[in-house]
Amino acid sequence: MYELFKQSSGGGIAIRNIKDNKYADLASTLKIDCEKCSGLCCVALYCMKTDGFPANKEAGTPCKNLMPDFRCAIHSNLVRKNMRGCLAYDCFGAGQKTTQIYYPNRDWKTNPGQANEIFDVFLIVFQLHQMLWYLIEASSFISDDHLKSDIDALIFENQQMTNQSPDEILHLDIEKYRLQVNQALKQVSGMIASDSTHKTLSYDYFGTNFKKEDLDGRDFSMSLMIAANLEGCSLQGTNFLGADMRDTNIKNTDLSGCAFLTQMQINSAKGNSNTKIPENLSHPNSWQEL
Ligand code: SF4
Ligand code: SF4
Repeated sequence: MYELFKQSSGGGIAIRNIKDNKYADLASTLKIDCEKCSGLCCVALYCMKTDGFPANKEAGTPCKNLMPDFRCAIHSNLVRKNMRGCLAYDCFGAGQKTTQIYYPNRDWKTNPGQANEIFDVFLIVFQLHQMLWYLIEASSFISDDHLKSDIDALIFENQQMTNQSPDEILHLDIEKYRLQVNQALKQVSGMIASDSTHKTLSYDYFGTNFKKEDLDGRDFSMSLMIAANLEGCSLQGTNFLGADMRDTNIKNTDLSGCAFLTQMQINSAKGNSNTKIPENLSHPNSWQEL
């Protein structure tokens, strides 16, 4: 039963459908499983110290803290050392999939000649998984049958692409697909936002204090929310698609009804044990240390 855009005199408020989530199993494959990965993000990505990584590093170079067994030597100290980039990063399950499915028994370290290919496949699958995550999230908010079938088709196409061989994945042209996904997400995003009036005013909410405000249905997509204070706000159907949530205060806040909130945004924000998040996301361990 889809209840999105439940209309009231104050306008529609997007309600997440939690009773009929046919993509729950697929969504669970997009959760990271670092134990089954060969530390791909710690090698394949270009990193900057100013973004909360240990040092500036070229893509394809292992982080100095990556141990031979692919675990992080400073894992238990990431919060204390303020490694925000490491703490926030989320590969949408591309790391373990690349390691276990595309290159079983052949990692970048034991096969240095294939390392760049493995990193390239990882980065393509990361993008596809990220788009898949957004599509699944969109599907949990829509009621429009036409749009729903468009999104189902895009999800199917995404699975077809990632079910191919590494060589086929390397030759995918995902830009056309990305345009279609962006178009569909834009439509869903526009339908979710019942209060788009503020959107025209600003994208910059750096440090804004919204404490305990009613922000139901507000559209914060692509906004700068760095260090904004959302503590105690009402956030039903609030759209955070692509918003920069670094250091956003979400302590004692219920975000369970928000739309397009990713694990990476949650990891970047400052929450606590009283913070409620959408059921497809996890409480970061680092919050216990804040
Ligand atoms: S690439 Fe993903 S699964 Fe692998 S270590 Fe990084 S976050 Fe974990
Ligand atoms: S510090 Fe640890 S988590 Fe961060 S990039 Fe290096 S090995 Fe990876």
